Amino acid sequence: MFFNVSGLLRENTGASRRFSLENDPPVHRGHVELIRMPKGVLVRCDADVVVDDRCSRCLVPFGYPEHISFEEIFVQQVDPSSGAHFPAPDEPDLFFIALDHTIDITEAVRQYTETAAAMQPLCRPDCPGICAECGQDLSMAMCDCPRRPVDSRWAALAALKLSANG
Ligand SMILES: [Zn+2]
Ligand SMILES: [Zn+2]
Repeated sequence: MFFNVSGLLRENTGASRRFSLENDPPVHRGHVELIRMPKGVLVRCDADVVVDDRCSRCLVPFGYPEHISFEEIFVQQVDPSSGAHFPAPDEPDLFFIALDHTIDITEAVRQYTETAAAMQPLCRPDCPGICAECGQDLSMAMCDCPRRPVDSRWAALAALKLSANG
């Protein structure tokens, strides 16, 4: 996801460009706004992404949709008119405009997609998962291991909700 900003860098603070994103994994669709700032370019990104993940119960790989939205400054390193280099700011974890005046938002999108990913994704809400005793994938076939209630905490929570509603 590259954007050439050599033109934008020659414009005044506040100048902007808008681009659409489509089918550029993990982005399904979205848009990017690039805004000229005194020391670089502010990237505003809004996108529907597909998170590639594994089901937390049965470990099957699957993708699911999430939305990401972020603003990041990409720091300018060189003046496109004069070729003069700016001193690099002494801060960690900055994004930079490349020396050829391009912005690559791939890494930022990856980081925000990772943050948006579910803690315990499920391939389907009622995924039965894998038997803790024998390792059988229970969505394919049942096994003969003795069954315990899935998780007693959920049962307690359900009872609580019932009494709250009543
Ligand atoms: Zn699953
Ligand atoms: Zn089993």
